[in-house]
Amino acid sequence: MPYDISNLLVIAISSSVLFDTRKEHEIYSTQGLEKYVDYQIDNEENPLHKGTAFHLIEAMLRLNTLQSGKRIVEAVILSQNEPEAGLRIMNSVEHHQLDITRAAFTGGEPVPRYLRPYNVPLFLSRNEDDVREAISLGFAAGLLYNPPENFESEMNQLRIAFDGDAVIFSDESEKIYQEQGMDKFFEHEKQNATKPLPEGPFAPFLRLIAKIQQDQKTSTELDSIPPIRTALVTARNSPAHKRVIYTLRAWGIKIDQMFFLGGISKDQVLKEFRPHIFFDDQEVHAKPASYHVPSARVPAARKRKTKDDPDQLKLLDIEEIEHAS
Ligand SMILES: [Mg+2]
Repeated sequence: MPYDISNLLVIAISSSVLFDTRKEHEIYSTQGLEKYVDYQIDNEENPLHKGTAFHLIEAMLRLNTLQSGKRIVEAVILSQNEPEAGLRIMNSVEHHQLDITRAAFTGGEPVPRYLRPYNVPLFLSRNEDDVREAISLGFAAGLLYNPPENFESEMNQLRIAFDGDAVIFSDESEKIYQEQGMDKFFEHEKQNATKPLPEGPFAPFLRLIAKIQQDQKTSTELDSIPPIRTALVTARNSPAHKRVIYTLRAWGIKIDQMFFLGGISKDQVLKEFRPHIFFDDQEVHAKPASYHVPSARVPAARKRKTKDDPDQLKLLDIEEIEHAS
């Protein structure tokens, strides 16, 4: 029977972000594929421990149990794993009682090409090539760090924290900061304060989350805890904060909490906010955060050589990529 996923928020995860497979990866790296597959088969009945995205997936799937009774989220495993090794992954899913029934094991082939058939707006992996490719194809994607130790997952609410520039917004202003310095950046942002920033890779995903929040607001009682809470955690501060506010207003999106930090380290704020995931494009922010809360880096899209000028690197848009493939 066909299963319609067009109205669902589908999140795709690799098996190594859902479960902690560092030991298994070590076997693969040092002893090779065959030994790795043997190990996974020998340990088929031995469930894997929780990985970096485990609590996020658990919290997202919990949205399906809200009073509205409507299915909202679908999680699928998109893994480069060998199908033989995949059985241990699915057994672990069952052991941890996660409502995931769909999986693809591509036997070493890159997985981003399957994001569109699965209608996936968010992809999480530990494979940098796959993540960069997914972003190039227009999907929100994150490269996950190791799971934080002693993370206590909020059980009654899905909590997500985003950086602004090069995550929700494009990297247009960030480039000015990096190439021309702080003064020029502030000047530019002041001049363009009321001009909405272009969308970054996570804008469509944020829009979907905001839509679910809005739908739930009308269907839940006012005094109950909102099922989702979002935060923007940005290094921007005054006067560059204005453009962020005006942009979100123009997009019609509300973010529940905003931190304009201006140089204060993000990790301590995130430790208190306790998101199920934090997305940031910069290692300098994402890595320290990863010791306290599950965190992902959002790398730049893969650069491609164009047909006309093979020496010139530029980003191809999705149409060009589809045309080329
Ligand atoms: Mg940024």
